[in-house]
Amino acid sequence: MPSIFTKIIDREIPADVVFEDDTCLAFRDITPKAPTHILIIPKREIMSLDDLSDEDEQTVGRCVMVASKIAASEGLTDGYRLVVNCGSDGGQEVPHLHFHLLGGRKMTWPPG
Ligand code: AMP
Repeated sequence: MPSIFTKIIDREIPADVVFEDDTCLAFRDITPKAPTHILIIPKREIMSLDDLSDEDEQTVGRCVMVASKIAASEGLTDGYRLVVNCGSDGGQEVPHLHFHLLGGRKMTWPPG
């Protein structure tokens, strides 16, 4: 069953899109955990890091490159964090692979 992120890709529900190409879509998180909180997702329906296959290598690489470019365009010159939650212990709620780009405040470590 398509996740809510597939509905965003298909423009069935609205999102604040900041970047799109043939491979990825990036949009602002609806409940931001930092002043900048953007989700970068592959357009391919990949459920999680656990579901990657070799053919996804370029897709994942492209998502990370896009995250880096968005961090620059968002002015995150003091740093940022790129997070992927995987599975229930990892805190993943939406079953479509996504990278959280978080910035604009000092991050703590370790995460909760
Ligand atoms: P995760 O817990 O890693 O699966 O993260 C899912 C993220 O998706 C959360 O930070 C949510 O706030 C975010 N989210 C859920 N629904 C939407 C939506 N419709 N638009 C934007 N972000 C969303």
